[in-house]
Amino acid sequence: MKKSIEGVDKACSSFSSNLLSTYLLHELPDAIFLIDPVSSNIIYANKLAYESLGMTEEEVVNHSVMSLQEAVVNQPQWSEIAEVITRKKKPYVFIGRHQRKDGSCFPVEVRTTNLYHEGVHFFLSVARDVTFRQVIDEEMEAHKHSLWYALNEASDGLWEWNIAQDSLFVSPKLKQMRGYGPEEDASKVDFWIEGIHPDDKHRVLAVMQEHLQGRTDKFEAKYRLRTRAGHFIWVNDKGKVSQRGEDGKPTLVAGMVQNVTDQVTLQERLENQAARDELTGALNRRVCREILEEQVTASRISGKSFAVVFIDIDYFKSINDQYGHQVGDVVLKAFVNKVEEHLRESDFIFRWGGEEFLLLLPHLDESKHFRVADKIRQTIEDNRIILGDKTEVALTVSMGVSTYPSQGSTIEQLIEKADIAMYRAKANGRNKVELYSD
Ligand code: GH3
Ligand code: MG
Ligand code: MG
Repeated sequence: MKKSIEGVDKACSSFSSNLLSTYLLHELPDAIFLIDPVSSNIIYANKLAYESLGMTEEEVVNHSVMSLQEAVVNQPQWSEIAEVITRKKKPYVFIGRHQRKDGSCFPVEVRTTNLYHEGVHFFLSVARDVTFRQVIDEEMEAHKHSLWYALNEASDGLWEWNIAQDSLFVSPKLKQMRGYGPEEDASKVDFWIEGIHPDDKHRVLAVMQEHLQGRTDKFEAKYRLRTRAGHFIWVNDKGKVSQRGEDGKPTLVAGMVQNVTDQVTLQERLENQAARDELTGALNRRVCREILEEQVTASRISGKSFAVVFIDIDYFKSINDQYGHQVGDVVLKAFVNKVEEHLRESDFIFRWGGEEFLLLLPHLDESKHFRVADKIRQTIEDNRIILGDKTEVALTVSMGVSTYPSQGSTIEQLIEKADIAMYRAKANGRNKVELYSD
């Protein structure tokens, strides 16, 4: 390590003061020009600068920058530009075209800054060939219709806010989501602002303001939006400034809205204490039925399978007998926590009763059901439950798995078959997973 640093030091000192000009500036992938603001003459150009123009260094240096720029043709025009650049504190960005020696042109983005050296004023211009970027922009433009279509289909609605004109475009889908017809006027920004729930309005507008001021990369807020009928739906709204004026201020903001009412309602229901079993914190039997019913409906539409897993703790009576009923309660709670650690966000554990639990494992290929269930069984076997007084309680479980739709299309069938499979696991020696089979 030390040796390589010494090597770099040595190389640097041998470059001496020419390091910057000879190597770094020459090898930069952007064209660099040092310009005299008064005469417009180029004082320095790096290698890429003159090579990109098909010229030699001599053909560029000491010539006017106007000979390169297609759009800048005479001294008065140059003086005007030079004055604007001189007054600017930030780099002056100019999108133009550079002309090669053979007369052909290419698009460039030029950033010019003021440079003062020993009292002398220079312009330092960095020019980047944006041919490739223009090709991408043109391609995007050519596919604008399809992109807009895809975005509209993937979301529940699109909007575009023209800040300069204080007008709003709302896609027909977004109007429909709020109960309005496609031809109804929604072009006022108030259509949006007045629809936000009073408790959310302040926060949402603050988040938008933060983005408009450039303090965040995008606007994103989850809030309640009023429908024509007067009730509120939950939306996830994401947007971004899509255009800025010459002064850098945002002029257009575009965004997309997703109706997330179902997800939020489910979340609220799960957070409700009445949904949970008091002892273990797992969701209770009533919620279990509701969620399984919803899963059946969702899977009927999507065609995706899911697993129902019946879990019964092995020899739990003897745990109660050995340590007492209270310790038994602690063990049940610890068991739920341990299983939850191994579930994905979309999975659920329910307390079915006593020391019996049900798992719902959605979005899972049928071939993986055994492996996922067995991993949970193994985890319980491997991790003893440690009590307050450091006593370690070993636990095993027997599990039975049934699958929608191959083993049942109703929750009753699925639970019954998972239960039968669990009894087979018990009969086969406990601490086992059995998949249901006829
Ligand atoms: P196996 O399932 O392996 O056949 O044996 P087991 O001993 O677990 O038998 P079973 O499932 O029939 O018994 C369940 C026991 O769990 C009976 C009951 O005392 C105990 N139990 C049920 N609910 C609770 C509870 O909330 N707290 C405690 N501490 N024990 C409970
Ligand atoms: Mg039992
Ligand atoms: Mg048991």
